[in-house]
Amino acid sequence: MFKKVLIANRGEIAVRVIRSCKEMGIKTVAIYSELDSNSLHVRLADEAYALGGKTATESYLNTDAILNVIKKSKAEAVHPGYGFFSENTDFARAITDLGVVFVGPPPEAIEIMGDKISSRIAAEKAGVAGVPGRSESVKDPSEIEAFGKEFGYPVAIKAAYGGGGRGMKVVNSKKEVKEAMESAQREALGAFGRDEIYLEKYLDWPRHIEMQIFADTFGNAVWLGERDCSVQRRHQKLIEESPAPDFDDKIRQKMGESAVAVAKACGYVNAGTVEFLYQDGEFYFLEMNTRLQVEHPVTEAVVGMDLVKLQLKIASGEPLGFSQEDIQRKGHSFECRINAEDAAGGKFLPAPGPITKLVPPGGYGVRLDAGYESGDNVSQFYDNLIAKLITWGSDREEARLRMLRALSELKIEGTATVIDAQKLILQEPDFIKAVHSTRWLESKVDLSALTAQSFENKETSTSTNATTIVSEVNGKRFEVKLYIPEGLAMETKGSNSAVKSKPRSRTQQGAIKTVASGHIAVPMQGTVVKIHVAKGDIVKAGDTVITLEAMKMENAISSDIDGVVKEIKVKNKDAVSPGDVIAIIE
Ligand code: ADP
Repeated sequence: MFKKVLIANRGEIAVRVIRSCKEMGIKTVAIYSELDSNSLHVRLADEAYALGGKTATESYLNTDAILNVIKKSKAEAVHPGYGFFSENTDFARAITDLGVVFVGPPPEAIEIMGDKISSRIAAEKAGVAGVPGRSESVKDPSEIEAFGKEFGYPVAIKAAYGGGGRGMKVVNSKKEVKEAMESAQREALGAFGRDEIYLEKYLDWPRHIEMQIFADTFGNAVWLGERDCSVQRRHQKLIEESPAPDFDDKIRQKMGESAVAVAKACGYVNAGTVEFLYQDGEFYFLEMNTRLQVEHPVTEAVVGMDLVKLQLKIASGEPLGFSQEDIQRKGHSFECRINAEDAAGGKFLPAPGPITKLVPPGGYGVRLDAGYESGDNVSQFYDNLIAKLITWGSDREEARLRMLRALSELKIEGTATVIDAQKLILQEPDFIKAVHSTRWLESKVDLSALTAQSFENKETSTSTNATTIVSEVNGKRFEVKLYIPEGLAMETKGSNSAVKSKPRSRTQQGAIKTVASGHIAVPMQGTVVKIHVAKGDIVKAGDTVITLEAMKMENAISSDIDGVVKEIKVKNKDAVSPGDVIAIIE
């Protein structure tokens, strides 16, 4: 087994991997951006190294900086978590070239599955049908129009390299084709560096059911069980559970065997998830994720295995150690994603900011995997998952009631979260009866009762000031960089340094500052990625004025009145804060 593992990630998943390593006696190495210099994963790791930079590109996606840390720390293996470099073959190859183990599948398998078009083709070859659609890339809007005519609308335009619900646009009619195609390409290019797109029929009432598989280097491959991830907003998962409710065991077996067949067809090794859409008793291959999934804990809860330990075991060359017949699933498990999002009115707007207080729930059958503690800050530059709350029960109803109880104990203050939305969803009769689908939350559930969450003192820092001091340890000179959050002042008295709190301005936060009609303000911190209008343009109420990217999502900011654009106050790539006026329309 490895003696030292570097975790090329941040937040809850870095914390999750560090915990398993600790139990296995493996030393852990964290990496961090400027904004994460004192974050939880850094605090928990045995060693931590700065990457510099704030945005993901400058830090957690900076190959050279990470390779340097690997060399410096002498880590023998790298666990990529999910997101960032987890499905990047160049990165996997670069570390393998250093003689360091990538905890994941071989680059060839990532390559086949990393592109949704080639993964569809690979699944079809393994005898597993994809969602009705075309396994080829589309270059012209007219091809989409032709597809719409043949298969009927709605049509899903999907980025071949998309992920996390990004790079997919649903088109309801011919007239939406062009804008949707451009938006899918722009989102995919910005986030994944590739803009190839392809088409699928947009199913009307599917459930998202995925299968966890594991394979070792000795040719053994098993499926551990399925997860139902149908509660989604913006095609992103919000609640997951295992087993899938009201799911015939014969179909489960068939899905498990199909998933293993897909894995074997691409020479897969380590943990993987084969995703399917399930409708009218049939399942269709959607994609394969060649890494650990966010929702892996619900599988851990029902099979009683630590999947990160299993990943490390396989990566170090050991066999799985059990066969398909040995796997026993027991009880039921739910996971609620606790995102920093304001769910008011069902909008789920990203809400980066400080966590002034976080009180975890406790008790039997409850697990909280958090990336933050009280006093930490959720930055606009990374994803907005604060924590995952997982419950286990002897059956679905016990696990559901336990989740409601745990959600009521979990207290997060300072930034808006989806906790209240989760409570509401878990009590919906359709959800209890399991007649929901991936489209259910956005089309059927009345979330109007959810109101904006506002917090005082939200204006703490999103950045830190660094001060270098010199210290001596056993006579050896060290330069120590001290990171002081903005709002705290450094006071030096004689030889003692003290960090003192500066009083913060007390503004009512969370709610956007009230602005006059026609003064278009942004509701959240983010970066301008497209300006849709020019000075002098005539706009209607509801027309998009700019596209704002915040926490990896594009948000359309629209005009509230009919009028003429008098002034545009921002440029492309500008960073804006909640309440900033970006245009004036008269
Ligand atoms: P990503 O890689 O962005 O997660 P997926 O292809 O896995 O994209 O799809 C994410 C979600 O989008 C699915 O769980 C489902 O809700 C929805 N979706 C994707 N393709 C289709 C489709 N053809 N019809 C209906 N819903 C779809």
